[in-house]
Amino acid sequence: MKPLEHAAAFGTIDGELSVGGLPLSRLAARVGSTPFFAYDRGLLDARVERLRSVLPARVELSYAMKANPMPAVVQQLASRVDRIDVASGLELRTALDTGIRPESVSFAGPGKAPAELRQAVAAGIIVEVESPTEIERVIAAGDELGLTPVVALRVNPDFAVKGSGMRMGGGPQQFGIDAEQVPGLLAEYASAGLDVRGFHVFAGSQNLDAAIIAEAQRRTVDLVSGLAEHLAAPVRYLNLGGGFGIPYTERDRPLDLEAVASALHELVDGPLSERLPEATPVIELGRYLVGECGVYVTRVLDRKVSRGRTYLVVDGGMHHQLAASGNFGQAIRRNYPLVVGNRVEASEDDAVTVVGCLCTPLDLLGDDVVLPDADIDDLIVIFQQGAYGLTASPTAFLGHPAPAEVLV
Ligand SMILES: *Cc1c(COP(=O)(O)O)cnc(C)c1O
Repeated sequence: MKPLEHAAAFGTIDGELSVGGLPLSRLAARVGSTPFFAYDRGLLDARVERLRSVLPARVELSYAMKANPMPAVVQQLASRVDRIDVASGLELRTALDTGIRPESVSFAGPGKAPAELRQAVAAGIIVEVESPTEIERVIAAGDELGLTPVVALRVNPDFAVKGSGMRMGGGPQQFGIDAEQVPGLLAEYASAGLDVRGFHVFAGSQNLDAAIIAEAQRRTVDLVSGLAEHLAAPVRYLNLGGGFGIPYTERDRPLDLEAVASALHELVDGPLSERLPEATPVIELGRYLVGECGVYVTRVLDRKVSRGRTYLVVDGGMHHQLAASGNFGQAIRRNYPLVVGNRVEASEDDAVTVVGCLCTPLDLLGDDVVLPDADIDDLIVIFQQGAYGLTASPTAFLGHPAPAEVLV
């Protein structure tokens, strides 16, 4: 997708990008300093509504909050989705602060500390256990607190999904319990006093191919149907993962959500209803819910020409948006979509290189991009910044102040 297509999703007011209904220069004045991240409430709501309108009604939507743990964003989503997935003790507290029912919170991730597992058991959330050690620790926490731990088993599937930006299932993995070990473990812990609700399979992240996502979901239902025979109670919780991707570069095509949804309708109405009738299927999404709703806004500090190449030096950079810079020198770096936010619709005729303010050549935000003529004090906006931005970046690197974050 092209930068102007991303700008169109937000809209413009008098030639400026509009975020949360405010022209960008006005928003920047309201925030009071650059750089900043801004998340658009209307776009967040629209994204949830769109998912709801195409997914089967029986499917519950979970927000994987590590994508964007800003409390206001989590609060906004808490009342619109069905569940929140957390990945740490701090995220657990943020999720519970929204007032969501504890049973609607799940906790996944390898290496949960004993203290975090104790927090989770005390809260009564679903702990997605990823190893025999975690099972032991959850049982110990339950004994100590006098509570029945609620768990699901995260399973490392016996299949791998191609085409994911990040593969997190199949082959050897730090994630989940290998599928072939699950029957033995369920037998071993059958009378350990655990409330085993079901299973979680997460095959990978940032996938833009509907057919591959659909195949992973079909194979997950197959796998779990087999594992269900080893469980005393019926499967009530079936976390199918997610992995829905968003387009970051011009070459990326958006995910065909209708195709994913229609395959999921067939799966839910067919094999899932027949083989796991009491299971609530859950789709767990991070970046697909929030990624496209956010922008990163920086101000041009300097415009300089070096041996024929024009540089725009902005007041932000890789310390706030590591992925846009290319993750510390990734082999093939592609530009994230960016525009001059206070003059979106001006004609583009200026080839420039947009760099951040860090003292390293890795701090590159736009390599040889064509923009409207931009100068000092103009606002450069990078799109697709609602997920894995601020909290996934090395903010301490070079010691600049932290950027603001607003939900408008
Ligand atoms: C990170 C993560 C997610 C979210 O991934 P996205 O690509 O942001 O959708 C979902 N589930 C689990 C278990 C995760 O670890």
